[in-house]
Amino acid sequence: MLWHKDVERYRALIPHPHDQRLVVVAAISLAFEIRAKCIISLTILGLLLAVNAMATDQDQAFMRQAIKVMRDAGVVNKTGGPFGAVIVKDRQVIAAAGNSVIQDNDPSAHAEVNAIRQACRTLDSWDLTGCVMYSSCECCPMCYSTAYWANIRRVFYAASWSDYDDLFSDRAINDDIRRAMPEKQIRMEQILQDEAQAVWTEFRQLPDGARY
Ligand SMILES: [Zn+2]
Repeated sequence: MLWHKDVERYRALIPHPHDQRLVVVAAISLAFEIRAKCIISLTILGLLLAVNAMATDQDQAFMRQAIKVMRDAGVVNKTGGPFGAVIVKDRQVIAAAGNSVIQDNDPSAHAEVNAIRQACRTLDSWDLTGCVMYSSCECCPMCYSTAYWANIRRVFYAASWSDYDDLFSDRAINDDIRRAMPEKQIRMEQILQDEAQAVWTEFRQLPDGARY
């Protein structure tokens, strides 16, 4: 133990046995005091984090709105699967959208993607830093990635993949992404890498290239 080695080191510095005992007692007391302070500090930190992470009544109200949009999309209007999403900035809803894959013939028209597009139009920016997304369901890999690209860093979700594994491919896609290239469902083949690399070289040299 580290503190035991320290005690031995101090013991060597103090030749008198009585003084040595005092140093040992002082070191042990100090070690216990530090440990107690660490435990108290970590407990307070944990409680603060837990309070910060807890969903408020307002979070639940936003989620209920997302669940209403979910039902509208999947059960009432049947624009697509039962998925809904709401995006909030400064406690104001700036976008609310359901899945519209069937209505729009667009496989990327998931609720979260639709809501992110709507929020970006509202803010006239691709960057949704500071926004919170409430999704009726756990984000699929595409929606997670879109939120990531949009700089959304907090998402609340209601239903889990396991609630609709039998109907939609969210988990299957997630598993597929993790597989090695030759084992993926989509056959991925790399060709003409050097020609594409030439464009990257050109792009890097632009003083005003679009970066995000
Ligand atoms: Zn999705």
